[in-house]
Amino acid sequence: MDSPTDIKNEETVEALDFIRAAVAEDNASGRFKGRVQTRFPPEPNGYLHIGHIKAIAIDYGIAQDFGGVFNLRFDDTNPEKEEQKYVDGQIADLKWLGYEPANIYYASDYFDQLHEWAVKLIWQGKAYVDDLSPEEMREHRGTLTEPGRNSPYRDRSVQENLDLFARMKAGEFPDGTRVLRAKIDMASGNINLRDPAMYRIRHAQHQRTGDKWCIYPMYDWAHGQSDSIEGVTHSLCSLEYEDHRPLYDWFLEQLEVYHPRQIEFARLFITHTLLSKRVLIRLVNEGIVNSWDDPRMPTVVGMRRRGVPAGALRDFIERVGVSKTNSVADIALLDFYIRQELNLSAPRVMGVLDPLRVVVTNYPEGQVEWLEAVNNPEDETAGTRLIPFSRELYIDRDDFQEVPHKKFFRLAPGQEVRLRYGYLITCTDVVKDANGEIVELHCTYDPETKGGYAPDGRRVKGTIHWLSAAHALNAEVRMYDRLFAAEDPASYDDFQEALNPNSLEIIPHAKVEPSLAEAAPGAVFQFERKGYFCVDNKDSRPDGLVFNLTIGLRDSWAKIQGKGG
Ligand code: ATP
Ligand code: MG
Repeated sequence: MDSPTDIKNEETVEALDFIRAAVAEDNASGRFKGRVQTRFPPEPNGYLHIGHIKAIAIDYGIAQDFGGVFNLRFDDTNPEKEEQKYVDGQIADLKWLGYEPANIYYASDYFDQLHEWAVKLIWQGKAYVDDLSPEEMREHRGTLTEPGRNSPYRDRSVQENLDLFARMKAGEFPDGTRVLRAKIDMASGNINLRDPAMYRIRHAQHQRTGDKWCIYPMYDWAHGQSDSIEGVTHSLCSLEYEDHRPLYDWFLEQLEVYHPRQIEFARLFITHTLLSKRVLIRLVNEGIVNSWDDPRMPTVVGMRRRGVPAGALRDFIERVGVSKTNSVADIALLDFYIRQELNLSAPRVMGVLDPLRVVVTNYPEGQVEWLEAVNNPEDETAGTRLIPFSRELYIDRDDFQEVPHKKFFRLAPGQEVRLRYGYLITCTDVVKDANGEIVELHCTYDPETKGGYAPDGRRVKGTIHWLSAAHALNAEVRMYDRLFAAEDPASYDDFQEALNPNSLEIIPHAKVEPSLAEAAPGAVFQFERKGYFCVDNKDSRPDGLVFNLTIGLRDSWAKIQGKGG
């Protein structure tokens, strides 16, 4: 789908997704005087995940397409679960993704206004203080099929409500003993309208307002009013808020203030992935992963640390598109965009994961040649570099077979193979230790084949990667695989059973070429024939390189695991 870049009139509406179509209609009717303003409203109670990227991309993209404004607003109304580090982390995530907000707002900046409006609703007889315990309140609420019952405190006088609410605010009552509720309809078919709570008592320090408040607004009371204060035109959110829209509208109508339009879209679900901060925090706390930025996490920080390019995430999200019904995206689609982008952008280098020593017996001792290697065959401007060749090399152990099967064209006794950008070599001897383990190969090289081609044109089918042993650098390589083997981990009662027991394998003694000594944290390379690897942005040091597997060169998962994990 190509994304419209400048949508001003309704002629293009046909081609738009349903939200852009709604925005275009509002522009045409003058509902918001042609203005478009969106916001992404995360709670700072964790780091952002790929599901949030979908919401951000919609908010950001619509503001862009209509020449509007995109803001970030922290829904920081739940101090016990929120922290400044999450605020900072989410701001950094947006920046890295390339979705920079025009302004950063905080719902907590509106606490005074929200309080004033709550008092106004009490004056209007539309809000009351309830003393029911949480259990009693649940019991009075009714069910989907049965109406609720009025609280015995529902008909308190305005004066009594004003007094009690003031004392709630003054800190006279312990947590959980009273709430302020909207007086709507306990028999409503929509449970959200059965006198929803507006304020609860929480004697908790807030990361921004300190101990100024001991009553905090509920999501539904804070959200629409915050949108209204900021002048949001289209309040876009995921489908589970659809049933909250009547309440969103009710509050704004009672207050007779500026009234944005809420529109809901489908949440993002991805195979082999769980997307919910509640679950992600458990993965961290229970030690199933090492941190929020563990490269196996679907968080922005995790994917970034794994080496996933921001552009691949944006492409994936755009391809998933905007729809009204929930569906599940295939993780293989994200993998496709990661490979597509890295194929174009990642410099090629040599890395040997399971080193096997090769001695080139007819190559002069002490001699070193610097051979030209292409940095990126997909990008001429990336140029070339020089890599050292010498008498002792490393190759990957699985590029040798002592008794080669018919279609094995790599190194084997008596068999000639091409060292990429190097020479043609032939294996003459296999050296084993007392246990029969192969510890070294002896080979001869053909001095006429520099660069990898024989002047007599003889055919050599196999090409392998290699390193000069004396020049190679040690590296720890962390081989990551999907965290969940199960295609739909959410369908398991216990997500532990859905885990992939082999999601991390650490290779402590891999070897990489010397040009990587100065590789920047976060930089991604293609280890030729092996996959894409990223310099770990936390643990890697020039004298102790650490690489994370971003993704293999092709999709091996389906083949190995079979459909459905
Ligand atoms: P989580 O359950 O992961 O904590 P949340 O909705 O509680 O998600 P918020 O921080 O409140 O987390 O989310 C901010 C916005 O991101 C919300 O408007 C929500 O609609 C949107 N969002 C969250 N998860 C997804 C998802 N998987 N797909 C699309 N939008 C999402
Ligand atoms: Mg939430």
